Amino acid sequence: MNCKHIFVTGGVVSSLGKGLTAASIGLLLKQRGYRIRMQKLDPYLNVDPGTMSPYQHGEVYVTEDGRETDLDLGHYERFTGIPCDRHSNYTTGRIYSNVIARERAGGYLGKTVQVIPHVTDEIKLAIREIEDDDTDIAITEIGGTAGDIESQPYLEAIRQYHHELGPGNGLFIHLTLVPYIRAAGEMKTKPSQQSVGILRSIGIVPELLICRCERPFAEEHRAKLALFCGVRPEHVIEECDVANSIYEVPLELMRQHVDEKILRLLELTPQAADMAGWREMVNRLIQPPNGEVEIAVVGKYISLRDSYKSIYEALTHGGIAAGVRLKIRMLESEEIEADGAAEKLGGVHGILVPGGFGVRGVEGKIAAIRYAREQKIPFFGICLGMQCAVIEFARNVCGLAEANSTEIAPGTPHPVISLLDAQRDVTDMGGTMRLGAYPCCLMPGTKAAAAYGPSEIQERHRHRYEFNPVFRETLESHGLVVAGLSPDGHLVEAVELKDHPWFVACQYHPEFKSTPVEPHPLFAAFVKAAAR
Ligand code: GLN
Repeated sequence: MNCKHIFVTGGVVSSLGKGLTAASIGLLLKQRGYRIRMQKLDPYLNVDPGTMSPYQHGEVYVTEDGRETDLDLGHYERFTGIPCDRHSNYTTGRIYSNVIARERAGGYLGKTVQVIPHVTDEIKLAIREIEDDDTDIAITEIGGTAGDIESQPYLEAIRQYHHELGPGNGLFIHLTLVPYIRAAGEMKTKPSQQSVGILRSIGIVPELLICRCERPFAEEHRAKLALFCGVRPEHVIEECDVANSIYEVPLELMRQHVDEKILRLLELTPQAADMAGWREMVNRLIQPPNGEVEIAVVGKYISLRDSYKSIYEALTHGGIAAGVRLKIRMLESEEIEADGAAEKLGGVHGILVPGGFGVRGVEGKIAAIRYAREQKIPFFGICLGMQCAVIEFARNVCGLAEANSTEIAPGTPHPVISLLDAQRDVTDMGGTMRLGAYPCCLMPGTKAAAAYGPSEIQERHRHRYEFNPVFRETLESHGLVVAGLSPDGHLVEAVELKDHPWFVACQYHPEFKSTPVEPHPLFAAFVKAAAR
């Protein structure tokens, strides 16, 4: 079978949940037996989001093969369980870099290089990267909103590609907003009409309209949307806000037979859907048998929820594994600096310190970790969270009062976290950290080994600084347990404490590999420890 293509665009406003919707569709098609691949095309000029602040962009998601990507790829992996790779996210910056490199290499000799056809051809090449013999359906999500200047080359490229694919091989899905105007007591279809109008004016005719709305709409709205947007009434889908969890979205779409409709539009026969496991997971999430657990997340980009997207999701998955409702206390580490750890952390069942960069808030994280260690509250440190745990231990247990990371205090006499040789001469900021999956060997008898099962694992990294091996002996002699090492034994990948209910910290980012149907073992073990 030839690979079929679905193109997902968005209209009216951003933040409609296009990534979640695309991921839900991916899951439904996968559970109907089709082999799918997903990608996101982002119309901004950064080559990747790796250099952007979390405030700008939310979390930077990391793939197995070491790409720094859009957080929607996290949704794709969490919903479908299928790993993304370097072809799963392209930006305008990357597309143009390729075009310019080809021009310099003489690849367009004699020609004027133009947006159409050269940039659009490069976009089509990016789309073709996810179509192969092992893929039945490729899903491409276009970032941004119809009508943005930046999106135009992408829309032109998918228009051309859809045309080249021929009837029944490509499908345009448009996600739009049907707002409810409270003062008028009415739902409004005009923004959707206008947004579809923009697409139609450039030759894209969506065949399926997914309408985000606060409340269900009436038949008259469906009829109106169908008529004015040129979509059959049964292809106008309502995607209301879900009551409890984003993981209900696929079930809601399935209730409206979206997956079957998509397959028919692609001239494929709907096979039986296997959603029993997903449904069971959602029920367990919504009605947990074992009560509630409160976990504090101590970070520095707390005001933007998307900054710690995968962390919050992985904690939720841990809650599913432990059968508890997960409540998250989101704390700015600077508040802990101002008010004290006991004041801010009182009553929590577990404390998580996630990754981060730069000086701001580090002392608050260290104070939170000291509180967790001394009060014997389950603690989970991730990346910078592990580095802070090592600093805290060095200072308050080993007596190295000025211990620090050279990222925070370049002149510290006790650089327990520092740059190793591989990073010392790096000057470029983009894509130069230790990135992607690396193997890690777990020490027998540790809490980490108990959680994982197998003694060698693979986890994804995104950092420059490392545990400084010079201090390993001192820290170990005071009781710090090295729980994970790179296979050559040089890099400390995880540490933990004995005589503590659960204190584990890792240099890598386990949150990227957690899914609701397969919660990550460390998140599951952490939440279980917190529940006790
Ligand atoms: N800033 C630290 C480093 O670069 C930690 C990075 C992170 O937490 N992702 O090593």
